[in-house]
Amino acid sequence: SPQIVWLRRDLRLADNPALYAAAQAGPIIPVFVLDDERTGDRKYGGASRWWLHHSLETLAKSFGRHNAALILRRGDRVNILADLAAKTGASAIHANRHYEPWWRKAQGDLKKALPDGCELELHDGNYLMPPGTATTGSGTPYKIYTPFSRALRDLMPPRDELPAPETISQPGELPPSDDLADWGLLPTNPDWATQMAQFWSIGEDAAHERLDWWADHVGEYDEGRNLPSVDQTSQMSPHLHWGEISPVQIWHRLKDKRSDGWRTYESELIWRDYAQNILCQFPRYPEESYRDAIDDAKLWRNPNRGHVIQEELEAWQHGRTGYPIVDAGMRQLWAIGWMHNRVRMIAASFLIKHLLIDWRHGERWFWDTLVDADYASNGVNWQWVAGTGVDSNMFPRIMAPLSQSEKFDAAGYIREWVPELADLPDSEIHDPSDKCRPSDYPAKIIGHKEARERALEAYRAMKDD
Ligand code: FAD
Repeated sequence: SPQIVWLRRDLRLADNPALYAAAQAGPIIPVFVLDDERTGDRKYGGASRWWLHHSLETLAKSFGRHNAALILRRGDRVNILADLAAKTGASAIHANRHYEPWWRKAQGDLKKALPDGCELELHDGNYLMPPGTATTGSGTPYKIYTPFSRALRDLMPPRDELPAPETISQPGELPPSDDLADWGLLPTNPDWATQMAQFWSIGEDAAHERLDWWADHVGEYDEGRNLPSVDQTSQMSPHLHWGEISPVQIWHRLKDKRSDGWRTYESELIWRDYAQNILCQFPRYPEESYRDAIDDAKLWRNPNRGHVIQEELEAWQHGRTGYPIVDAGMRQLWAIGWMHNRVRMIAASFLIKHLLIDWRHGERWFWDTLVDADYASNGVNWQWVAGTGVDSNMFPRIMAPLSQSEKFDAAGYIREWVPELADLPDSEIHDPSDKCRPSDYPAKIIGHKEARERALEAYRAMKDD
């Protein structure tokens, strides 16, 4: 009998445990349901919708190469899937486990809604190890990255990699599919995605091409990863987020590289697993500060309460803070939907500490603009920078954007993304003096020292209250 494959952020044919199991069990009906408008879900951001469109388009072509069709549906996922199961007489729906709270709920609801004779079969496919695998001696999940990562390494290697199904058969009659173009996932007027389209190649094949390139470069990762001016990170994050490639595939491909670079890269992949583990334990983590000692209502300057603060938030969003490294990052984000990790930290810290604006405004902006926007990774990293999360209290640790810019040699990066400053010499580019600053580039929105003192004072006042 037919096997339905419910695809979500696992848009690949190879190493897809749900698809693999389904294809072995019978003719398959792969389905993607667009359903992100309900309360309790995070609606996809603009950049995510753009990526998703292209990723589904390439996935449909990959199925096409096997003479198979991908079915697209829009609406209530549980009803649609249960209805498909009833109408096609499917004996199972296969899906890879997802851990966003709304996906966990949908998995539970679907189990109950399925017709008799149809089972929900959940598989593990998107992480090095299923979240919850690494636990402390007493069996509880880890909260802190370092012990988590040590425990995960002890449990490695990850599962074996699965091939793509050799043949894919489908039932003679397929349920109808929507037309992707009708979903309106792409921007129209204005089309803000032109630079994104030039920058990225999307889909499973593109992810593997990038991995081929990366296999020759991972050795330099240890030194290169902090330098935004050079292309020395993998840029696999959107491919990983959308599941065009799995971390297990990356791990097996690179494991024999016995370099420091590979070891550090492996730690970053573990960060991705870690973020998911945190989300599983604390489903509201991306929505509110974790630490009880942080009073969000007291600590932050709230943009809803004053137009000056709102203007500052917008200056940050559009890369007009007067801090070249921050502005370069925010403009890179807007242009290509991705920002270098070192600069993500600097830009996030600037919003939180220098502008003293609630991290959740930044998290939302990243959610809307990143092509790798990931509920767990974004929330965990924002709370990490804010010092409001499960880690030791880091709020008073304030990054100095100007010295970070010099230390990590960001001159080339600034020249690329802030063209007004392209002609400044290295001695001026990180922190342009009033004399050298071009008239179309803004003065600093706030001085570093003043901002630092304000943040520490606000923190003290919140604690003393
Ligand atoms: P590489 O350096 O090549 O790392 C390889 C992979 O490891 C990445 O593709 C990613 O999947 C994973 N990874 C690396 N660093 C982290 C990390 N700190 N946390 C979790 N996973 C990591 N990453 C996202 O995938 N989605 C997000 O929404 C996201 N939001 C972030 C927000 C802030 C404020 C910060 C500071 C970081 C955020 N990151 C996020 C983590 C990190 O910046 C990106 O994963 C990385 O820059 C992606 O580029 P890359 O693929 O070249 O990374």
